Amino acid sequence: MARKIGSRYTAHQILGRGSAGTVWLGEGPEGPVAIKLLREDLASDQELVGRFVRERTALLGLEHPRVVVVRDLVVDGNDLALVMDLVRGTDLRSRLDRERRLAPAAAVAIAADVAEGLAAAHAAGVVHRDVKPENILLDMEGPLGPGGAHPALLTDFGVAKLIDTPRRTRTNRIIGTPDYLAPEIVEGLPPRAAVDIYALATVLYELLAGFTPFGGGHPGAVLRRHVTETVVPLPGIPDELWQLIVQCLAKAPASRLRASEMAARLHELAPLVAHMPPLEVDEPGAEPSPEPREEDPYRTLPDGPRRAAVPLVPGSYADSSRDTHTSMRVPGPDELSGGPLGTARAPRAPGQRRPGSARNKPSAARRRRLALSVAGVALVAAVGVGGWFAAGGDEVEAPRQDPRRSAPETAPEP
Ligand code: ADP
Repeated sequence: MARKIGSRYTAHQILGRGSAGTVWLGEGPEGPVAIKLLREDLASDQELVGRFVRERTALLGLEHPRVVVVRDLVVDGNDLALVMDLVRGTDLRSRLDRERRLAPAAAVAIAADVAEGLAAAHAAGVVHRDVKPENILLDMEGPLGPGGAHPALLTDFGVAKLIDTPRRTRTNRIIGTPDYLAPEIVEGLPPRAAVDIYALATVLYELLAGFTPFGGGHPGAVLRRHVTETVVPLPGIPDELWQLIVQCLAKAPASRLRASEMAARLHELAPLVAHMPPLEVDEPGAEPSPEPREEDPYRTLPDGPRRAAVPLVPGSYADSSRDTHTSMRVPGPDELSGGPLGTARAPRAPGQRRPGSARNKPSAARRRRLALSVAGVALVAAVGVGGWFAAGGDEVEAPRQDPRRSAPETAPEP
């Protein structure tokens, strides 16, 4: 059934459904297009429509081979639609679901593509804020690259920030998909370009490992890990690639690579990983070996599964759709401390104790210090996130204050 969108476009057939609306295969004056028709409740929100129209220039201005280009914005009666380049292929989540983990060559090639798209966006003053496999499309008509990877394009630029308005989210709530959220967002700082680098490094880790570095369990536990835990090495990963991931997952935003640097480093690493098979990583949640071998630090999880998708409601099932989690509650101190609701735990080497483990038998003084620091993290998160929303969020990249660099990373706000 064909459906008219504005005066210039016709939507023919549904390509996919996302959290913000339905994506249609359509036709426009210049040929086939993809049309994202926003959900009715979003399209009828006058403030949101106003924001889309105001941000029109930023939305339409981003043109790059690694970005799904938005060609037009249609506001017509009850319809609010984004007209995009049509990508004939699939999204990265579908490929990951099928293959579980990719050969390092494919993972590196895809991450390099996305880093190039991000570099263009950051230079134009746009932060994506929702980099995740669902927002990476693989162009099956493009040439096959290293490791059997089709060209990857980043989609949904600027949409997350437009939809997640302060009015839509209460001041004690946080936006974004928890697995890919940079620690500075958890701590309430404004999201700058470095949050995209952190999210992309998380995606790269996930492509290699089959799970995200800090995901699993209650959202509060996931947020806490972003702030407090270090990433566990993957067995068999070349050291240079590991160093890149570690640097891009640095807790301090200024320590991460810029997008252009990340893309260049990934291209340099391509020959190193060219013929590597997918890494052999123990599946999180797999039965632990009854006798963990001392030399194998990757035997993990005697205490529960660590999955990328997490339930938003305590006791419910994991969110298999992995949509952007809008209106996520800022966790309370007990949740941040991995209390009764935080079940998933980070992989750790044998002998290395989990913080908070009963086996640690902390002294009263240590327990007090732990409680104080947990309460501190919770307070900072609550105050910071509230401040961020009160300030209307920070959607456009400002030049980064990196004392090690003399030139600003991005152009000023367009
Ligand atoms: P949302 O961001 O609202 O969650 P998505 O952008 O992920 O929605 O779109 C849902 C699905 O529509 C995607 O999984 C993808 O398969 C398809 N899709 C999105 N954009 C395009 C596009 N430009 N070309 C082709 N298919 C697309």
